[in-house]
Amino acid sequence: MKLTALGVWGGYPTADAGTTSYLLTSTDGIFHLLMDCGSRAVTELEHELSPNQLDAVILSHYHEDHIADLGVLRQYRQLQAEKLPILPIYGHAENPYEFSKLTLENVSKGIAYDVENGTSIGPFDIQFLKTVHPVVNYAMRLVERETGKTLVYTGDTGFLSALTAFSAGACVLLADVYHEKDKHDMPNHLSSVEAGTIAKNAAVKTLILTHLSQTANLSALTEEAQKAAGTAVTTSLAQPHKIWEI
Ligand SMILES: [Zn+2]
Ligand SMILES: [Zn+2]
Repeated sequence: MKLTALGVWGGYPTADAGTTSYLLTSTDGIFHLLMDCGSRAVTELEHELSPNQLDAVILSHYHEDHIADLGVLRQYRQLQAEKLPILPIYGHAENPYEFSKLTLENVSKGIAYDVENGTSIGPFDIQFLKTVHPVVNYAMRLVERETGKTLVYTGDTGFLSALTAFSAGACVLLADVYHEKDKHDMPNHLSSVEAGTIAKNAAVKTLILTHLSQTANLSALTEEAQKAAGTAVTTSLAQPHKIWEI
C-alpha cells in the first residue's frame, strides 16, 4: 500500500502547509482512504487525485487540526455535476455532537467505528486503541488483508505504554511527535524519544514523525527519535507529498 502525506503540522497551518491529513491507497491502487482531514487537506489531495475518487474517510478525533477541511471536502463533492456515491466518514461516537456533523444528506454518512471488535473499511481491517489526549482519540492499526502490510497511526497521544504492544511488528508507525526530548511524559503528545522508544520496542520497520510543531527544531527532533529508535528502525520526517511504499 502507499501512504502519502498531505498535511503534517500539528495545531495550526503554517504559510502554505496544512495540518494532519494522510492518504492511504491500497496496493492494487483501487481504494483510497483519507486519514484525518486537517486544514488544506482538499487542496493538497487535489495534487494527488480528485477528491471525487476518495472511497472513505477515517478520523482519529475531533480536534480542529484533524477535521478543519471536512466541510470543504463535502462541499466539493456536493457541487460536482456527476452523481457521486455517498462518502462514508468513520469516526468514534463518543462525542455525539461532532459525530452527528459527519452526515450530510446525499453527500456523506457518519459511521461509528467499532472500537472493541474492529472495523473493516474496503481492503483494510482496523483495530483501535484509545490514547491519552484531552479529547477522545483513537490510534488505529490498519492491516491490508491481501498483503498483511500493517500501518499504525497514533492520531494524537501523550505517552501510553499500551502503544508498544499495539504497534508490534508494524511496517510503519505514523506517530504524533510534537515535542522534543526535554518534554517527555506530557498528557497531549509524544516526544521524539518516546516515539523512538515505542518504535524500537515494537520492532516496527519505519517510524514516521508527524504532527510537527512550528517551534521545534525538526532536525534535532529527528536525530533524537532516530537515536532512541536504534539502527533497526528507519526514521523519517513527514513532509507534504512525501510518499512511503509500504
Ligand atoms: Zn492534533
Ligand atoms: Zn488533538
